[in-house]
Amino acid sequence: MTHPATSSTIIISGLSVTIIKKRIKHSYLKIHTTSCHLRLSVPLKTSLHEITELVSKHWTWIQNKIKNIKTIQKPIEKKYITGEKHAYQGMLYPLCLMIHPWQQSVTLSFDTIVLSIKENNELKERQALLISWYREQLYQIIPNLIQKYEPLLQVKVHEFRVKVMKTRWGSCNITDKRIWLNFHLIKLDLKCLEYVVVHEMAHLLERYHNKRFYKLIEKVMPDWKTYKDQLNQIHLIHLL
Ligand SMILES: [Zn+2]
Repeated sequence: MTHPATSSTIIISGLSVTIIKKRIKHSYLKIHTTSCHLRLSVPLKTSLHEITELVSKHWTWIQNKIKNIKTIQKPIEKKYITGEKHAYQGMLYPLCLMIHPWQQSVTLSFDTIVLSIKENNELKERQALLISWYREQLYQIIPNLIQKYEPLLQVKVHEFRVKVMKTRWGSCNITDKRIWLNFHLIKLDLKCLEYVVVHEMAHLLERYHNKRFYKLIEKVMPDWKTYKDQLNQIHLIHLL
């Protein structure tokens, strides 16, 4: 006779816990790394009393885990002031604010990102200035990458767009031959941006992440895996 796993959700001390009863010998507890949701897998015959006992026994551990997840997830609020570090092409550069009576500009000079801005500027203005500079850089780099790979992959990109995405590095519209690239890519090693461009361009030829797809990429970017791994290790939330 087989016992299918059953699941139910209960609230223990204000925390909702999904209980999964299945054919296992030992219970185990998992905390989802983004939602902090608790899942407790227990042997089939575990009683509700035993379940609450288990949770309270590990209460401190659970609370610490949740606290850790929440601090990791919380992006540090940027102030855009002199000395504060900002990422650009895989490096961290300190900002340097320079007051200029009329001209607003951003320049990368030696190891510093210099923001020239009028006196009494506000955080929002400094942020907007840096964002538009990041965008300019992307709009200079991306067309060259597309041009480089169009003949190699034998595909035409009709349009590319840059947007802030919270969960993905890129996306595409196969019918319109349009690709979207995540704004935050400008903060990473240029090769990562290059990989995402190649990845999305390859999708214009192959929709799925199948063997053919990765063969297309491999042919034009043999070291693609290094950059794919790098991207996988980055939590987008840390780039905000
Ligand atoms: Zn893909």
